[in-house]
Amino acid sequence: MTSPAYIGRFAPTPSGYLHFGSLVAALASYLDARAKGGRWLLRMEDLDPPREVEGAQAAILHTLENYGFQWDGEMVRQSDRHEVYAKVIDRLYEMGLAYACTCSRKQLEGHQGVYPGICRNAQHPQHDAAIRIRVPELEYHFHDRVQGEYRQHLGREVGDFVIRRRDGLYAYQLAVVLDDAWQGVTDVVRGADLLDSTPRQLYLQELLGFSQPRYLHVPLIIQPDGHKLGKSYRSPPLPADSAGPLLMRALRALGQEPPPELAGCSPREVLEWSITHWDAGRIPRARTLAEARLR
Ligand code: GLU
Ligand code: ZN
Repeated sequence: MTSPAYIGRFAPTPSGYLHFGSLVAALASYLDARAKGGRWLLRMEDLDPPREVEGAQAAILHTLENYGFQWDGEMVRQSDRHEVYAKVIDRLYEMGLAYACTCSRKQLEGHQGVYPGICRNAQHPQHDAAIRIRVPELEYHFHDRVQGEYRQHLGREVGDFVIRRRDGLYAYQLAVVLDDAWQGVTDVVRGADLLDSTPRQLYLQELLGFSQPRYLHVPLIIQPDGHKLGKSYRSPPLPADSAGPLLMRALRALGQEPPPELAGCSPREVLEWSITHWDAGRIPRARTLAEARLR
């Protein structure tokens, strides 16, 4: 069997319900995959139980179903993948590419989020420590299908970053790279809030010998007051009975031009139309879009 040319995915975090911004990201990844005859996978990024909202996983699945999305195969949960993450971390540690860090929050203050390398050569034991990966003094860059060229100097702008937290939880940056590679994802379509995570992910892919997927980052939807629509801001869940109008609004956010008559159709019909008419070239080349302007 030959592997399909396109494998996309949607990877929500159950620290809250899906909100309008996540709908825009889900829709873009779904339409881009289906318009190319590709597969569309669903992965629950449940790496952080303390921040998980009870019932959010089930609510996310319900919303996706109510909005007409159909994913291929079984949903994958990152909480089922701990063994794999642990093995890779051990390997990186044994190779000297990762090290234990015991820095307190206080010690990291005043560095603008760039890790200053305090524990790099300290040889701390792994117990009660975070694990960081050494980054090279290099700039990583990639071509985003919407945002264009994006570059970041890992040494100067990020520093050695955490792949396992001190409390034992695995970091998103590592898990997302391992799972995208394991699932054969060829195309990552997601919100522009993750643009600045991508160079870290490129570095991990390179280190682990994975091929690099294509990237498309859609504008992040922000509230009229400039706040990111997000889980930390406690956005309300998407109402099941407004699937049609909200899909229409999400399509407009993505620069698509659904005919007004489509508003009266079922979510499935809206998606059918959208797959046939999908044009990723129309997605606004912006990092953010204000939600109020989309109504
Ligand atoms: N789980 C991440 C989020 O909900 C998305 C990860 C990704 O698409 O790479 O923000
Ligand atoms: Zn440290």
